[in-house]
Amino acid sequence: MSTKKQINNDCFALPPGVDWTPLDNALLHLKNSIIPTVETEALPINLAVGRILASDLEAVSASPPFSNSAVDGFAFKFVAGYEKNLELKKGRSAAGHPFSQTVEKGQAVRIFTGAVLPAGADTVVLQEDVKITGNNIYFENKLKLGANTRKVGEDIQQGQLIARKRDLITPFMVASFISTGIGSVQVYRKLKVGIFSTGDELISFGQPLEFGSVFDVNSPMIANLLRAWGYEVSELGKIPDNLNLLRDHLNNASKAFDVLITSGGASAGEQDHISSILKNEGQVTEWRVAIKPGRPMAMGFWNHTPIFGLPGNPVAAATCALVFVHPALSKFSGGNWVVPQAYYMPAAFEKTKKAGRREFLRAKVVNNSVEIFKSEGSGLTSGLAWATGFVELPDEEIRVKYGDKVKYIPFSSFDL
Ligand code: AMP
Ligand code: MG
Repeated sequence: MSTKKQINNDCFALPPGVDWTPLDNALLHLKNSIIPTVETEALPINLAVGRILASDLEAVSASPPFSNSAVDGFAFKFVAGYEKNLELKKGRSAAGHPFSQTVEKGQAVRIFTGAVLPAGADTVVLQEDVKITGNNIYFENKLKLGANTRKVGEDIQQGQLIARKRDLITPFMVASFISTGIGSVQVYRKLKVGIFSTGDELISFGQPLEFGSVFDVNSPMIANLLRAWGYEVSELGKIPDNLNLLRDHLNNASKAFDVLITSGGASAGEQDHISSILKNEGQVTEWRVAIKPGRPMAMGFWNHTPIFGLPGNPVAAATCALVFVHPALSKFSGGNWVVPQAYYMPAAFEKTKKAGRREFLRAKVVNNSVEIFKSEGSGLTSGLAWATGFVELPDEEIRVKYGDKVKYIPFSSFDL
């Protein structure tokens, strides 16, 4: 059975009669209506970084798995008002080589970092603090019960919930999972995404430039973003501005991919074939989201396959990819809806903005304040290359003055 059938075909539909949808409404709508579309698979834990957990995870064993010494020293049994002169037992407890006898009250045994705390012992004194004379050790410092030891399960208890379904697995999570005995995990398989660009004027990088043509920037840019997010990406090439060719390409690609992404032709002009074909022959919908740069874009379905029709201007395509595609694909692929971490920083610029739409400016942090790119043109890829993130200005009218705190979202907050 195709898993695509599970998709809620209304998830891109916006309420009728609404002209420009506020960004927050559009995102909330997407968040609430996307259903994961991919199957799950088992993976060895070391290969699971970047994948999304398909079930809650419980610790198989405790971490640490046994009580052990945190230092090189001497293990003994703590007694209130204990003797600081202890009889040194023969033998030692080293990492991987436990001491087999019991340590009685008044006795101590040599121990090394990571070694099992021998039966009877509960406290360790640092070797630097100890004087050894014959078969005795002596120390002066006061210790608390359990000093310099790590108790069984003090980090994670056996059976404890350690991660949740839909969590994205990081290298450090893998480290923690392994320490609790996890050997493999059930994850969602990678989302397969096909990318097209549209436009008669486009030529591929490396080809000679002809008069009237421009290089196809969007396909490689979007593909690289998606690869960074861990998806299985295919660059399917350029589609000319021709309805029949577009239909053929969408028909073929919708059979092979979980999600399609196009750029260009997403407005309402007579050369904007993506929006018209989706409106007339697909399942919904042209999106008029009040966002700059980026409007309008198209989102809908073609043969049950979700399709994001990004704007053609590269800066607008990039912005829509980060703002819409990033959280949406996370959710389609079994993950959580992801909201980028923002920071409030003093502005190193002044700007007046009208009410009615959200604005994303190319921005860069310099000396703890945030600058914006000198031009807002949505075709200027140099601004994208210069920027380290966005300044996001609210829907309302706003006058930003030097030093005002503005919302800065580094590109790293979009998992880049
Ligand atoms: P469109 O949305 O198709 O009307 O395109 C808007 C602008 O973006 C036009 O100047 C296009 O030439 C340009 N454009 C469209 N697609 C791409 C692309 N893949 N790479 C670079 N520029 C593009
Ligand atoms: Mg075009």
